[in-house]
Amino acid sequence: MLTPPFSDVSRSPRFHVAIIGGGITGVTLALGLQARGVSYTLYERAPCFKEIGAGVGFSPNAEAALKAVDPEIHAAYKRVAMPNGEDWFQWVDGYSSDEVGYKLYLGEQGFQGCRRSDFIDELAELMPMKNVRFGRVVERVEELADGMMRIHFGDGTVGEADVVIGCDGIRSRVRQLILGDDNPASHPSYTKQFCFRGLVPMDKARKTLSEYRASTRFMYNGPGAHAITYPVSPELLNVLLVISDSNPWSTTDGRHTARGRKKEALEAFKNWHSSVRAIIDLMPDDMDKWAIFDMLEHPAPFYSKGAVCIAGDAAHATGPHLGAGAGFGIEDALVLSELLEAVDRAARMKGGKPRAQICRDALSVYNDVRYERTQWLVGRTREACDLFQWRDKDVGKDFEKFGKEITWRFHQIWEYDLDKMVEDAIQGLNSKVKSNGLLTPD
Ligand SMILES: Cc1cc2nc3c(=O)[nH]c(=O)nc-3n(C[C@H](O)[C@H](O)[C@H](O)COP(=O)(O)OP(=O)(O)OC[C@H]3O[C@@H](n4cnc5c(N)ncnc54)[C@H](O)[C@@H]3O)c2cc1C
Repeated sequence: MLTPPFSDVSRSPRFHVAIIGGGITGVTLALGLQARGVSYTLYERAPCFKEIGAGVGFSPNAEAALKAVDPEIHAAYKRVAMPNGEDWFQWVDGYSSDEVGYKLYLGEQGFQGCRRSDFIDELAELMPMKNVRFGRVVERVEELADGMMRIHFGDGTVGEADVVIGCDGIRSRVRQLILGDDNPASHPSYTKQFCFRGLVPMDKARKTLSEYRASTRFMYNGPGAHAITYPVSPELLNVLLVISDSNPWSTTDGRHTARGRKKEALEAFKNWHSSVRAIIDLMPDDMDKWAIFDMLEHPAPFYSKGAVCIAGDAAHATGPHLGAGAGFGIEDALVLSELLEAVDRAARMKGGKPRAQICRDALSVYNDVRYERTQWLVGRTREACDLFQWRDKDVGKDFEKFGKEITWRFHQIWEYDLDKMVEDAIQGLNSKVKSNGLLTPD
C-alpha cells in the first residue's frame, strides 16, 4: 500500500469521522460528535472559521435541534441572539400602504436573529482546535481495500476516516464526487433572484423606521421584490432585499456574488412606499450583490453513497425566503450525530463484524430520514418567494389568503418532531444491522 504524504489518522482501531466544511452544518455536527465522544476531524478550506453575510435567525425547530445536538451550542446561540421586541413575524404591504397585513406568532422569544460572525465565533470557542485542519480543500475521496476512506486535499495531504460527511455548502465538491461531475444535480441553478444584504446602525434604523419596527421581525411585500428586517444586536438591524430578475446570472469567475450599488436597489424599489425606500437609503453605496441559487431544478437524487454523504446546503441548498436553510442543516447534524454515535458503539462491541458495512448502513438511514423533509423545503421556499412578491395567481396581494398559505408552510417547518426523527433513524439502523447480521449480541 502507498504511504500517504501526510495522514491525519493513524490506523487506530477507533471509528473516525471526517467532516468536510466548517460552516454552520459542519461545525454543529463536529460539536455533536464531540458531545457524544465520537472521534472526528473537521477539514475547512478557509484559514479560519468565518461566516459571510450579515444576520441569521434560528426558527423554533432549529433552536430545538441546537439544544438536542448539545445544550452548550444552544446556550452559545442565546448569548449572541437579540431578544425580540415582540414575538410576532409581521408582513407589511411595502408597496402601497405601509400597513401590516398579516402577523404570525413566533413563540416566546422565537426566531431571534444574531450576527453570523458572532455565532460562529461562539461555536469556534467550543471547538477543540486539535480536531480541525484549516486550509484543506477536498479534491477527491478514495475507498481503500479495507473499506476506509482516504480524502485527498489540494495541497497534496490526505486524511483517512471510516466515513466522510460533506458539509461543504451549495457548490459542494463532495456532492460532485458522489453524483459525478457531469450530473446536473452536482451544480445548483440560479433562481432568477438576487439580493442585497447588510447591517445598518440601529440608531439610524430607529429614527427612520420607528423604535417598534426596528425591534422585531418585519417583511415588506410587493411586486417583484421583498425586503426583510430584523435586529441582530442592540446596535444593528439586519436588512435583506430580494429582487427578482429575468436575466441570467453571469460573472466571469463563476462566483455567486458581484459588486452592486445602492442605486440599483433603489431603482428596483422605485415605485415602493417611502418607508421601504428609506430603509434602503440606510445601506452603504457599495454592496455585494448575492445571486440566489438553489437545487430545485436538479435535486440530488440521494444524499449518501457508500461511506460518503452530504448534509446542509451541500445536500439541499435552498433560497433564504423561509429562513430555514441553516436550521435544516442543524437537523441533519443532529441525526448524523446520533447515528454516528450508534456506529461508534457498535464498532466497539466485542465480536462485532467489520464496521465498514455498519457505516454504510448508517449513512443510508440518514438519507432515508432526511430526504423528504429537506426536498420539501426547497420547493416550498420558491413558492414562498412568489407569495411575498405577489406572483402567486390565486393569492396576489390578498393578505387573508396570504396568511393561510404562509402559515402552514412555516408551521410545517417549525413544528417538527425531532425525537421521532432520531428514534426512526436509530430503529432503522438497528433493523439494518440485525438483518445484515453484522453484530453479535453482547
Ligand atoms: C441571504 C441569506 C439569508 C439566510 N438566512 C437564513 C436564516 O435566517 N435562517 C436559516 O436557517 N438559514 C438562512 N439562510 C440559509 C443558510 O445561510 C444556509 O443554509 C447555511 O448557512 C448553510 O450552511 P452550511 O454549513 O451547510 O454551508 P456553508 O455555510 O456554505 O459552509 C460550507 C463550508 O464548506 C467549506 N468548503 C467548501 N468547499 C470546500 C472544499 N472543497 N473543501 C473544504 N471545505 C470546503 C466552505 O469554506 C464553508 O466554510 C440564509 C441564506 C441566505 C443566502
